[in-house]
Amino acid sequence: MRDSSMTIDGKAVAGSGSFSVINPATGKPFAEAPECTREQLDDAMSAAAAAFGPWRRDEAARRKALGDCAAALRERAPELGRILTLEQGKPLEKGIGEFFGAGVWFDYTASLELPVEVVQDDEEARVEVHRRPLGVVGAITPWNFPIILGVWKIAPALLAGNTIVIKPSPFTPLATLALGETLRDVLPPGVLNVVSGGDDLGAWITQHPAVRKISFTGSTATGKRVAAAAAPDLKRLTLELGGNDAAIVLPDVDPAEIAEKVFWGAFENTGQVCSAIKRVFVHEDRYDAMLAELGRRASEVVVGDGLDASTQLGPLNNAPQFERVSELVAEAVQGGARVVTGGGPRKGDGYFFEPTILGDVAEGLRIVDEEQFGPALPVLTYRDVDEAVERANDTMYGLSGSVWSGDVRRAAEIASHLECGTAWVNQHLQIVPHAPFGGAKWSGLGVENGHWGLYGFTETQTLNIAK
Ligand code: NAD
Repeated sequence: MRDSSMTIDGKAVAGSGSFSVINPATGKPFAEAPECTREQLDDAMSAAAAAFGPWRRDEAARRKALGDCAAALRERAPELGRILTLEQGKPLEKGIGEFFGAGVWFDYTASLELPVEVVQDDEEARVEVHRRPLGVVGAITPWNFPIILGVWKIAPALLAGNTIVIKPSPFTPLATLALGETLRDVLPPGVLNVVSGGDDLGAWITQHPAVRKISFTGSTATGKRVAAAAAPDLKRLTLELGGNDAAIVLPDVDPAEIAEKVFWGAFENTGQVCSAIKRVFVHEDRYDAMLAELGRRASEVVVGDGLDASTQLGPLNNAPQFERVSELVAEAVQGGARVVTGGGPRKGDGYFFEPTILGDVAEGLRIVDEEQFGPALPVLTYRDVDEAVERANDTMYGLSGSVWSGDVRRAAEIASHLECGTAWVNQHLQIVPHAPFGGAKWSGLGVENGHWGLYGFTETQTLNIAK
């Protein structure tokens, strides 16, 4: 594996030291990533602050630069996607796909307007509302989708006229460092800085005086720490946090018809998706049939090294997550859950876990009440749909949810009662660049994507011109 470098002020920078990156398919280190010092972080912040002045002035240049970023990432997607697969574990096609997706997001964002709204224009005054950039953005990302979640921040932050310092998770630093290396020659120095290190580095970013906005994606527990760190300096904040999404399956559906979509809504990326289905509520009339359909798919799906062409599900990304999922499933089984398929770790190297469907489960088990973030799905039963909605909402999470029915209008009406940022009907995980994505309650603060996400990287300025 080639050496990775940080990008600071448009230059390649080695760390003071390095840390190992593990391939989750083997459980063994395969590369080193640079460890950023506090002084190097100061350099990155100074570079971002210095670049802000000229960058904010030329909207047309920024728009063009975003298109150039899209093209550069697409061109290197096969090579970069492989790095992502090696450190993250996902199938190679998905690793490459994340870089193509990044291209889509850059291009879409480049097409967004930063409109000036005229709210008064009469004999007294002309009053305009502008969207101004904030300054330096500190961005922090998790290990499940390092590239696409990073680009959800980079693209709108830059289009709005901000500059950025981004830090990926210590479990998956390499693909983001490679993104920095790729875009180093596309963007002016200091506009995009990529640093790598441990959780401390994230905390230093949130406390850094140069940062005017923090855009964070990760767990709810860390999100609360980030919010506390932002408060003394009133840094602007967007938080994309954990979820415990419910899917509600009504009695009018044929489980055989929806099971494929429900399965992938839960197991995509080995269940390591913030807005994956994490609890399924199935009407008691359809419960056994649904369990059988989901169980069949879980037993047939091909689990393996992401570099094998036949692999559909990779390993869990890291040892703590592997242990957590193992623990939650073991606890559920001890608590009386019926193991329909799977039920435990796979023997051998790497963080592989058998795709698991659990029946006869209910609230009170941690795998139902908490975010499992892995390939193990509890399937619950209900009798009355109002009761299902109430139970779906009985959590501090509120990222997304879905309702499955042959009657789309009724399903949409039921979905409107879900307390979450995105509600789907007869689908799950359909995330598009042009719609806002964010969480209710403990699942987040603010949104990403669409013009709503772009506006999150701006401050309004009222320009009141006397006549
Ligand atoms: P995490 O909170 O452990 O880490 C996320 C990032 O925060 C990492 O880069 C980490 O180094 C950094 N960090 C850790 N401590 C910090 C601190 N005190 N200050 C600043 N930064 C700090 O989360 P994770 O385990 O990497 O990711 C999984 C979680 O992310 C899940 O809960 C998942 O639901 C959530 N997630 C949410 C979304 C969303 O859009 N809502 C998307 C993906 C993942």
